[in-house]
Amino acid sequence: MLKCPECAAVLDVDEDEVEEGEILNCPECEVELEVVQINPVHLNVISDETDAEEDEEESEEGIDEKKKEEEEEQAEDEDEE
Ligand SMILES: [Zn+2]
Repeated sequence: MLKCPECAAVLDVDEDEVEEGEILNCPECEVELEVVQINPVHLNVISDETDAEEDEEESEEGIDEKKKEEEEEQAEDEDEE
């Protein structure tokens, strides 16, 4: 039996049944797993979720910077009054 490297769920796939380059889906976390090696089987997580999370963090930082600029502008306006 193979285990998902992401959530450690047992995949319903036998090590002897997979081929190199085969794409498996984890039933638990729905991550895509590529069989990068057999004997022993090595699974590589190819989920888009990880990338999406990284992108989200980047864009959140950008929003924070914009917010900061807006706050600074507002602070300046307040000083003028
Ligand atoms: Zn999983």
